[in-house]
Amino acid sequence: MEHPENSTSYKGLTVNAGIEQPSSVNPYLKNRPRRKRPERTASDYVEGILKGDITLLSQAVTLVESTKPAHQTIAQEVIERCLPYSGSSIRVGISGVPGAGKSTSIDAFGLHVLQRTGGKLAVLAIDPSSERSKGSILGDKTRMEKLAVHPDAFIRPSPAAGSLGGVARKTRETIILCEAAGFDKIFVETVGVGQSETAVHSMVDFFLLIQLAGTGDELQGIKRGIMEMADGIIINKADGDNLERAKLAAAQFRNALHLFPAPESGWTPQVLTYSGFYGLGIKEIWDMVYEYIGFVKQNGYFQYRRNEQSKYWMYETINEHLRHSFYQNPVIEPLLAEKEAQVLQGNLTSFAAAKVLLDKYFDTIDKK
Ligand code: GDP
Repeated sequence: MEHPENSTSYKGLTVNAGIEQPSSVNPYLKNRPRRKRPERTASDYVEGILKGDITLLSQAVTLVESTKPAHQTIAQEVIERCLPYSGSSIRVGISGVPGAGKSTSIDAFGLHVLQRTGGKLAVLAIDPSSERSKGSILGDKTRMEKLAVHPDAFIRPSPAAGSLGGVARKTRETIILCEAAGFDKIFVETVGVGQSETAVHSMVDFFLLIQLAGTGDELQGIKRGIMEMADGIIINKADGDNLERAKLAAAQFRNALHLFPAPESGWTPQVLTYSGFYGLGIKEIWDMVYEYIGFVKQNGYFQYRRNEQSKYWMYETINEHLRHSFYQNPVIEPLLAEKEAQVLQGNLTSFAAAKVLLDKYFDTIDKK
């Protein structure tokens, strides 16, 4: 009973001696490896997703993103079984160069649409250059502070870096799972640097291009093809000193759009100014999006565009598998460098080299 607090000056307070710990009933318990998560079947995922279970949805998305063949097999089955429950959302692509204010805007847009129509929002991304550590896009949920803690929002970073086609396909498959889980609004974010806009355009109903007012030559840096894809161009940071410049930029974009042929949808792309940061002009942007959706649903373009997208993804998937199968082929791989060197030395034409390689490839396929 040696303890300072057991001295008589601490009346009424005694510290009892501890008792010896009993020995472990099962001495092996401590060293046992941690139990792995039980293997789930495709049915487990499908059931969970259809019930709106976010944990299972996230895990299924991880399988979609995985390159392991076993994961891919389950993922494909889950996607196929979710497909009949998908399609009933509004899919909006949001693009802009780094610093244009995509995260700030998506945060504001997301809150707006959730308040406006209820439902659930999934924010996905396509960023083939993404290196998570740099947090270039959507890696850190903190970029969308309000949505990140919203109970009806699901934010998922871009699949890890890979070929643009591959990354985009995974995002498209994730859309299907999210829709089956009851998400009726999907935002797909991408960094506006060229090719990735085409990928986003191929999976959304409305493509929003975020622009900034610059130094008077706004239109120079932006490629014609990208402007032609936009269903709406929105000039961000129309606040404070920047307001007039933003309005001027909007006028320039409007003029430029007049020079393009009328889009297939029959809809004239609009140019609006807003401030994502101060929440100005947000309602007008979504009035535009909803008006567009109503318009193209009526004239049949909505379904037409979705059908075209399905077709596009069928061919994209085939192309990717063929390319992968060719370049990863154990006979072809070592031959590539050899043939390339011969072409560079002028000993073989490009076409002859390609023919040799393709013939070899088809040989290996035939033998299988
Ligand atoms: P992202 O790289 O496209 O995702 O752009 P961010 O949303 O991270 O925004 C880049 C910077 O622009 C941040 O410092 C924002 O605070 C700022 N910003 C975003 N929207 C606005 C806006 O509407 N007005 C002003 N003045 N600044 C904004």
